[in-house]
Amino acid sequence: MSVWAVLVAAGRGERLGEGRPKAFVRLGDLPLLAEPLRRLDESEWVDAIVMVAPPEWEEPAILLAEELGASKASACVTGGATRTDSVRAGVAEVPEDAAVILVHDAALPALPEDVVPRLLEALHQGYDGAVPALPLTDTVKRGRGGVVEETLDRTDLLPVQTPQAFIAPVLRAALEPSNTVLQATDCAALVEAKGGRVRVVDGDERLLKVTTRADLERVTAWL
Ligand code: C5P
Repeated sequence: MSVWAVLVAAGRGERLGEGRPKAFVRLGDLPLLAEPLRRLDESEWVDAIVMVAPPEWEEPAILLAEELGASKASACVTGGATRTDSVRAGVAEVPEDAAVILVHDAALPALPEDVVPRLLEALHQGYDGAVPALPLTDTVKRGRGGVVEETLDRTDLLPVQTPQAFIAPVLRAALEPSNTVLQATDCAALVEAKGGRVRVVDGDERLLKVTTRADLERVTAWL
């Protein structure tokens, strides 16, 4: 069974205010992208990796993979206007005979090694996809214009992370342009919209999404 990873790194990351794409902001001595790339490359569960970079950042991504000796990095393609467009571009580079596609956001650099096997185990059980999630500890309200409209029951609410794993043909079908889920912010939403069954597995607090400088500093402290 071959497992391909699509590492999406084509977001602009403007909230970091660094004047460069988030994946190329420094994390320690290297661009942020180096960390998830190295961790996927070192994972015994991953056979090959497709990187997705912003326009004009493909070459730096390839040079970085060479510098790291990330021999599983097979290609780097140009991302699109939305995350879904970027995933679609990456998946197009995955060979037809791949069994499983993992999609991971470069914005979550500190990927612990036991997350991927948990996801793959769920696919072995017969699920179309699997996502890591953490229990929600905050109280969540829905509001509009700065006024609370209701307090939600958090029991069933799940903040999800990446990587997310999918049976390859299921993900390909979900990425067809006819599947018009408005503002899908993850791949599971596309698979769910097609009636796919997605398993929730334990996430990990170290899969922190880097959005602000403070996040970057927290992740740096873990490395
Ligand atoms: O924008 P957001 O923070 O949700 O992005 C999540 C991930 O998707 C990031 O790793 C980002 O680089 C990637 N992305 C992308 N192409 C886009 C937008 C986001 O590859 N157009």
